[in-house]
Amino acid sequence: MLSSINPANNILIKNYDEMTSPESADIISLADKAFKNWKETSFIHRSELMKNAAKVLRDNSEEYSVLMTIEMGKPIVQSRTEVEKCAWVCDYYADNAEKILADEIIKTEATKSFVSYQPLGVILAVMPWNFPFWQVFRFAAPNLMAGNAGLLKHASNVSGCALAIEDVFRKAGFPENLFRTLLVKSKNVKDIISNTKVQAVTLTGSVPAGKSVAALAGSLIKKTVLELGGSDPYVVLEDADLHQAAMSCVTSSLINAGQSCIAAKRFIIVESVYDEFEKLYLEIMSKKRMGDPLDENNDLGPQASLQLRDELHDQVLRSIKQGAELILGGTVPEIDGAYYPPTILRNVKPGMPAFDEELFGPVAALIKAADENDAINLANKSIFGLGASVFTKDIKRGEQIAKEKLNAGCCFVNDFVKSDPRLPFGGIKESGYGRELSPFGIKEFMNIKTVYIK
Ligand code: NAP
Repeated sequence: MLSSINPANNILIKNYDEMTSPESADIISLADKAFKNWKETSFIHRSELMKNAAKVLRDNSEEYSVLMTIEMGKPIVQSRTEVEKCAWVCDYYADNAEKILADEIIKTEATKSFVSYQPLGVILAVMPWNFPFWQVFRFAAPNLMAGNAGLLKHASNVSGCALAIEDVFRKAGFPENLFRTLLVKSKNVKDIISNTKVQAVTLTGSVPAGKSVAALAGSLIKKTVLELGGSDPYVVLEDADLHQAAMSCVTSSLINAGQSCIAAKRFIIVESVYDEFEKLYLEIMSKKRMGDPLDENNDLGPQASLQLRDELHDQVLRSIKQGAELILGGTVPEIDGAYYPPTILRNVKPGMPAFDEELFGPVAALIKAADENDAINLANKSIFGLGASVFTKDIKRGEQIAKEKLNAGCCFVNDFVKSDPRLPFGGIKESGYGRELSPFGIKEFMNIKTVYIK
């Protein structure tokens, strides 16, 4: 049984029957059959259907937004933005896939030699609950446009979203079974990966889940893309616009109640502006409202479940025990629901959970650095390497730090890290490998074929 429980009140929304292994295997066979026809279709046809998917999303935005909010607690305004972003990624690949995947002539001694991009087949996506629509669409839009078929194993707490997404593609007119949801638990993922009709796997989620899926897929020589955790550092230099930096930092800390792989987690501020930045950051964070995620006036809702909230609180307590100082939040409110308030820890140092681990919630770690070099060293002192940001009025300095010094897949200057269909997204180190979005993302699950004609 898969259960959707509203984290705002801990009330059961619905139980879903799990699919049996033979049921999953049947769906995989049907998806493979659908792929064999789909790969022969034109880009114009695929593009038309993908534009329909964008329209279905926009036409039903409120229904999908409420579904996300009640299943995992995202503030309703952010759910609406998420639906629109999904429509955007559908439009982006509908407009650009043909151009990106066109044959590329390469001059050699041959009469003609070129690269051709051919789809691989059925691709499995193992997805997390934190952006229950966006994570899936950024996989599905490029892959369906590329001619692949998609299988979704979504997080167990968002089965309603998983089925609604399958329905978006049905409503848009995509062939039956080209995109299917498998309602299974994580222990069943190994059977799906082992199925010979599944060609590759993408997983967005935690490091342990990534390691387990990649180990099995690797043993079967199936390609993987991994989008894993992060502990994004935000470096604030002495010449930063401190007010703008503090605003951006708070926004990033609280997106999705801090449950974003690219939420700002570690704030590394050079000593000379530390006190002023801390004051501004505390002032802005203190004004944020936590409450019912369906109420548009609230900035953050609950965490996605009581268990996740309790794990987060434990990380905060362990950091305090090791010397971090609590200056905001940090207590579990005595109300129903998995709420955790905006929390700030200062005097955070390497070795503490708030520095070394991913804190998946609205918890900020303030870290003092002696100067730019010290700040960059601290920023890079992490097992993760997903996003990073630097704040400075000197654009050249910021650009050089972002390009050459910060060890992460997405480095921003004077803004918080965000994903964009036009730009590649992904990490290094234990944040994973491979890229989603942009021309890079659509090529991950293609046979990059050399054709040589004498
Ligand atoms: P999670 O526990 O790893 O779950 C993610 C997905 O993997 C779920 O569908 C889960 O299924 C499945 N799963 C878990 N363990 C598995 C295993 N051993 N084998 C196969 N599948 C397994 O992560 P989460 O708590 O849902 O999501 C939060 C994590 O995702 C954070 O670490 C966050 O940073 C990361 N994330 C990364 C990105 C990115 O782009 N880099 C984006 C968003 C989130 P069940 O639900 O059935 O357990």
